[in-house]
Amino acid sequence: MSDLPGIVVTGASGRMGQMLIRLVAESPAARLVGALERPGHDWIGRDVGVAMGGAALGVTVGDDPLEAFAQAQAILDFTSPEASVEFAMLAAQARAVHVIGTTGFDQDQIAKLRLAARHAVVIRAGNMSLGVNLLVGLTRKVAAALGEDFDIEIVEAHHRHKVDAPSGTALMLGEAAAEGRGVRLAQVADRGRDGITGARTPGHIGFAAIRGGDIVGEHDVIFAGPGERIRLSHVATDRAIFARGALRAALWGLGRHPGAYDMADVLGLD
Ligand code: NAD
Repeated sequence: MSDLPGIVVTGASGRMGQMLIRLVAESPAARLVGALERPGHDWIGRDVGVAMGGAALGVTVGDDPLEAFAQAQAILDFTSPEASVEFAMLAAQARAVHVIGTTGFDQDQIAKLRLAARHAVVIRAGNMSLGVNLLVGLTRKVAAALGEDFDIEIVEAHHRHKVDAPSGTALMLGEAAAEGRGVRLAQVADRGRDGITGARTPGHIGFAAIRGGDIVGEHDVIFAGPGERIRLSHVATDRAIFARGALRAALWGLGRHPGAYDMADVLGLD
């Protein structure tokens, strides 16, 4: 048996899951030891490579996280908030690194993830790409440099299947802008304007979401001031950037102290 770290991919049939399975199967630095889907899914019991329409990979899709995590050093998880919270408890029991790309958590769910991070390494980021994580740092800096007469608006666009809004990345950018200004995002966020909203409140951070087609992910942070505008922009054209970031995070997390980490830690950006 190889000494390479064993990786389990959850949500194996999903857009990100399939990308992750291919990446791990081809990686010289890791080996695929498990693939999970939700109970009742028609991929359960099939070889994951064959289910994806390719060659057999020697890994059968299962629906029992406990059994799968027992053989894993790391778990790559892009599923749903409910599933990721359940996986976090089980990954912590197995002392496996849990890389969470899932977005759309509420505050209760985030608190549960923090509990799991007391016992194991949990790396969570609403966006795993290098470019977006750089954009987060730039947003924080620009927001700190500009006064409140620059209105901050965050505009994001994603494919038609996305179920949450604003995107996890838009919220990361909003948090960074709020931090730069020394305020709490929850107190200044304007999410989803509609109807007679009244004039814009000074100091608020606005969000707008576009959904359509197969857009992988686009984010603009606009600082609109009197007579001028700064626009910071990131466009993702290939989901592979998120998968590569997730695998990099898993390898980075091996052997670290238990705790809650993000991609800025992994990429050494802070
Ligand atoms: P998707 O709907 O294509 O895939 C999700 C998969 O998870 C599905 O196959 C579903 O059956 C599976 N799943 C749900 N519950 C499960 C369970 N209990 N056990 C096992 N599998 C389960 O979605 P997607 O586009 O791949 O995105 C998944 C998540 O990742 C979303 O929250 C999305 O916003 C997020 N995402 C994050 C990043 C990032 O860089 N952090 C990038 C892309 C997508």
